[in-house]
Amino acid sequence: MVPFTYDAVQSEQEARSAAAAGARFLAGGTTLVDLMREEVERPESLIDINQLPLRDIQMESGGLIIGALARMAEVAAHPLVTREQPLIAEALLEGASPQLRNMASIGGNLMQRVRCPYFRTLDAACNKRQPGSGCAAIEGLNNTHAILGASEHCVATHPSDLAVALVALDAVLRVRRDAGLREFPVEDLYRLPGDTPHIEHMIEPGELIVEVVVPRGAYARRARYVKVRDRASYEFALVSVAAALEIDDEQIRSVRLAAGGVGTKPWRLRASEAAIMGERAGRKAWELAASRAIEGARPLSGNGYKVELLRRTVIRALELSAEIAGETR
Ligand code: SF4
Repeated sequence: MVPFTYDAVQSEQEARSAAAAGARFLAGGTTLVDLMREEVERPESLIDINQLPLRDIQMESGGLIIGALARMAEVAAHPLVTREQPLIAEALLEGASPQLRNMASIGGNLMQRVRCPYFRTLDAACNKRQPGSGCAAIEGLNNTHAILGASEHCVATHPSDLAVALVALDAVLRVRRDAGLREFPVEDLYRLPGDTPHIEHMIEPGELIVEVVVPRGAYARRARYVKVRDRASYEFALVSVAAALEIDDEQIRSVRLAAGGVGTKPWRLRASEAAIMGERAGRKAWELAASRAIEGARPLSGNGYKVELLRRTVIRALELSAEIAGETR
């Protein structure tokens, strides 16, 4: 591991000043410390922000507020989350082992790095780790890589399950900086790789994620997260789908859909949503949504199976959500 300095701070101002000067925030450390051990990440200084008062989970008029330093396990078990936004609890439980959920923060989960094996192999070409070096995955092992949103410079998927649920639910990120609070949709946090895959997000130096706001919605309690992976427990998604439905008198009144494991960022399926709004709930609508979900998919040599898997997972997630809607009508 490359030598670094460590400081724990008591105030946001201290934390943001240090970050503006190049320090990296340390919360749970479940991604960053791993990458430092492998020397993929080489920060010169770490700022431990765990003492900052950013762990509250509460309901306000704008919706559910989740502090950025709340741990995955705390959020997944919190009664406000399980009752009002069960999709978030389900995505968190599917997202990591109990040990990792106890350590990892919500802000850190959203900022985690890609799982592409070449990104973690120092002598492999990787534009994300070393801009301009190439992308070993395009001609190499790419069975877990993206079919949506990729570029000739990077084809890695975004790994967060939580982010998929938050994007489906129109969640908003609150970020503090010297000029005050900045708010924007979680969906806009992530950048497509384009020709700058090393620039992954919209957070600027000196900014600190402080809260996530999840708005209320009639669909929120009738939601499911379906994750398909290579092994049954604690693996990253090959394909995942977050689905939320409001059904009234067998008609779809509102729908939210997003996919993980297939895009270079959490992928909102707006064409699928638009296709089935107002339609009769049932297999025909789910198949229509699924067919729209795979439009524009561009598989690589090893991940063509993801197209059909995405289609089927959209159907399954909508079926499961509709079953909840049926129980609660
Ligand atoms: Fe690097 Fe992205 Fe290519 Fe993986 S897919 S090797 S992360 S540039």
